[in-house]
Amino acid sequence: MMSVTLPNRIALWIAVGTAELECLEIRDPVVLRDGAACPLNGTDSVDGEVTLQVVQPLDGIVAVAYVGTSNRRPVALNGVPLGCGMHAIHSTDRLDVGADAYWLSEDLTPQRTCYDPLQHGDDVRCCMTKARLHPGQDIVVCPGRLGVPCQVIYKAAAWDALIQSDRGMKCPSCGYEPQQAAWSPPEAPLRKKSFDEFHHFAHK
Ligand SMILES: [Zn+2]
Repeated sequence: MMSVTLPNRIALWIAVGTAELECLEIRDPVVLRDGAACPLNGTDSVDGEVTLQVVQPLDGIVAVAYVGTSNRRPVALNGVPLGCGMHAIHSTDRLDVGADAYWLSEDLTPQRTCYDPLQHGDDVRCCMTKARLHPGQDIVVCPGRLGVPCQVIYKAAAWDALIQSDRGMKCPSCGYEPQQAAWSPPEAPLRKKSFDEFHHFAHK
């Protein structure tokens, strides 16, 4: 599969045990196996696997899950059993594979980096100060809100000053509020009941 340049970063959350969560950023195809996301080797057979590929976000869809034709584990999307084939995954969807739970979400942490015209475009101005940016300058890229990619650029100093001066700051372009907690999976531990349902489904 081809990797693409993503305007938004995608976070994969994995339930580890009954209470802990692990969060990692994914770009390349992964195999969901034993509560982990393993990089997909081009020569691996995926017939018996469940794989995940992030896609250019569109209408809230952030990834595609592929359930292999000989997969034997019960798979469910937001509690609804999935058959084999391709399935669109929206941001904040929950995917259960066997007894393991995964969630995908857009990673909405502001990205601190240096202005690079090749990556961010030529002749970009700070969204707030309107000052022209210079290559190598410290910037913050607005992450947008769930389902609302933004990517406007601020001088890092302007962004920091705004956060300090105005606790109710919102990005004028998308309404992102840095003070709001980022999305994370619901706190409820894994539902034992749903696992039993899957088990039942798998052995019908
Ligand atoms: Zn924004």
